[in-house]
Amino acid sequence: MPQTDNRRGLLIILSSPSGAGKSTLAKRLMEWDPSLSFSVSATTRAARPGEVDGTDYHFLSESAFKDMVRNGAMLEHAHVFGNFYGSPMAPVKEAIDSGCDVLFDIDWQGAQQIKTSALRDHVLSIFVLPPSIAELRRRLVSRGQDAPEVIQKRMQKSWDEISHWDGYDYVLVNDDLDVTFERLKTIVSAERLRQPQQPGLVGFVRGLQSEFQEDEQ
Ligand code: ADP
Ligand code: 5GP
Repeated sequence: MPQTDNRRGLLIILSSPSGAGKSTLAKRLMEWDPSLSFSVSATTRAARPGEVDGTDYHFLSESAFKDMVRNGAMLEHAHVFGNFYGSPMAPVKEAIDSGCDVLFDIDWQGAQQIKTSALRDHVLSIFVLPPSIAELRRRLVSRGQDAPEVIQKRMQKSWDEISHWDGYDYVLVNDDLDVTFERLKTIVSAERLRQPQQPGLVGFVRGLQSEFQEDEQ
């Protein structure tokens, strides 16, 4: 789908308890619209096998991470599962100023910070719920990425994450993946037409008004 001329970029935030499917949905959304820009977070956690520095995350030392926070270079940051995570500001500003949407896969703490930042008028926040807790556990296990004790830790954190569901603009229950993805595309398509996302409308409406005046003469 092409980007419309003269459009402001949206900050699209996806949050969910770990395992509900937000990375899968984010990946599909990026394939659907390659002009979307993914916000690559910085983190102090170690890379998992297969993760690439600069693509999956920017893997930083704790002191490098804290320097970025001190220098105001993070749009938001949070402490999750014993590690620091944050969204670097510069690529986000650059993308939205050039009319590209930015996709964030971040937790509720980050979502709240962005929703109260100077960019709040351009935020679209979506929370993804699992159809059941048994299915959430099944997905975490079948993903095959984490040791049993890490899965247990993620399950324990899920309740905390889920309790913030009502702070989001939209909530999707990710039962059937295709259905959820269709709903996600509908939300993004509609939100792109929200008035604050179309700064060109002011000039367009002025044009219509002068056409009116000419028409009346
Ligand atoms: P998150 O990013 O929220 O931690 P993932 O996107 O990694 O979750 O999904 C966790 C696992 O569940 C993955 O193996 C993924 O393929 C699977 N999954 C995602 N959505 C669904 C769905 N609707 N039905 C069945 N399995 C799903
Ligand atoms: P993981 O270690 O599984 O990649 O991510 C753990 C959690 O951290 C997920 O809930 C993920 O959404 C969240 N997370 C990842 N990057 C960021 C970020 O930049 N900021 C915030 N606030 N949370 C993040």
